[in-house]
Amino acid sequence: MHSKLPHTGTTIFTVMNELAREHNALNLSQGFPDFAVPEVLLDRVNHHLRIGHNQYAPMPGIPELRYQLQQKIAACYGINTNADTEITITSGATEALFSAIQAFVGSGDEVIVFDPAYDCYEPAVTLAGGTCIHLPLRAPDFAIDWQRFESALSNKTRLVIINSPHNPTGAVIQRSDLDTLNTLIAKRNILVLSDEVYEHIIFDGHRHESLLTHPELRERSLVVSSFGKTYHATGWKIGYCVAPFALMQEFRKVHQFNQFCVATPLQYALADYLRDAPEHYRELPDFYEAKRNYFCKLLADSRFTLKASSGTYFQLLDYSGVSDKADTVYAKQLTVDAGIASIPVSVFYSRPPKQKLLRFCFAKDNSTLEKAAEILCEI
Ligand code: PMP
Ligand code: GLN
Repeated sequence: MHSKLPHTGTTIFTVMNELAREHNALNLSQGFPDFAVPEVLLDRVNHHLRIGHNQYAPMPGIPELRYQLQQKIAACYGINTNADTEITITSGATEALFSAIQAFVGSGDEVIVFDPAYDCYEPAVTLAGGTCIHLPLRAPDFAIDWQRFESALSNKTRLVIINSPHNPTGAVIQRSDLDTLNTLIAKRNILVLSDEVYEHIIFDGHRHESLLTHPELRERSLVVSSFGKTYHATGWKIGYCVAPFALMQEFRKVHQFNQFCVATPLQYALADYLRDAPEHYRELPDFYEAKRNYFCKLLADSRFTLKASSGTYFQLLDYSGVSDKADTVYAKQLTVDAGIASIPVSVFYSRPPKQKLLRFCFAKDNSTLEKAAEILCEI
């Protein structure tokens, strides 16, 4: 049978989850918290289920939630957006990314992605008929090599996908990156898709440089985020896209036939919670920075080496002092033999470099982090 995605296998998150389950391993592979959604938010979901908010929501999302997002964007980034025309609620960030790519990428178009790249970008580009041009981030800081970017631009380049804070490396982009990007694409017909799902998980006093805050880039950008990361509810699969009216019109043409709309009671509950508890996302950087610090401290005496992550709830560990096996092999070995699951970083590259890195999720109760560190320190 002809495959439209001949080079795509099962996502590493499913592979490692299944292996972890099969071997009863501590699962620090797929990124999800093992602590609870805030009680008040759960009460609001219950409330909206009970009062009958159970039918289709409006296609772009309920106005209440779009309005609360407009308020939050103004509070966080000091900019105005139009809740009616510039914000759409989606089925997770995944749907927002997919819909954006289908809306703007066509046959023969090139899309620049930076490796290691989150794994849902390329299949969406391929299905749209486009081709990904993979540019490696520069180790050890995983910064963008702008010279290489400039040389990769062509008259086929249609879209650039950026992701900060970055999964899987935890790197964050700087203001100067945005200025450089803007200068390099200013005279070209190129859009930017900015994956900002970890916007509130950023450490060490770094500020999240949302594309929304860059007046020129914003005109050509679709910015994607997710409630799953911010509210410890990855299983709810609610995200959103923010883009100028002209881009959003095209985005919605795809969204309306991809999903049409997103779970109604969850949208109402999130709107209430955004209005009533803005401290939740304000406190998130400190909450996760403490987790990162704790996890890194617990590993100080291990044979793994690390550079503390600047954002996201992931920490890379370098195992070159422990094993010379390929990361895909070593990640499986750790799961099966040591009882701890992680994600091998090479799967996010089109041409994996010679590095030995595993990604661990530290969005876990301290007791889980302690168990993880105990295992890793014995290796
Ligand atoms: N982008 C990145 C970088 C992610 O890490 C994730 C999920 N963890 C997503 C997009 C997808 O988010 P969602 O679960 O809301 O679809
Ligand atoms: N984004 C999550 C991660 O990086 C995984 C989500 C998924 O399994 N699709 O771990």
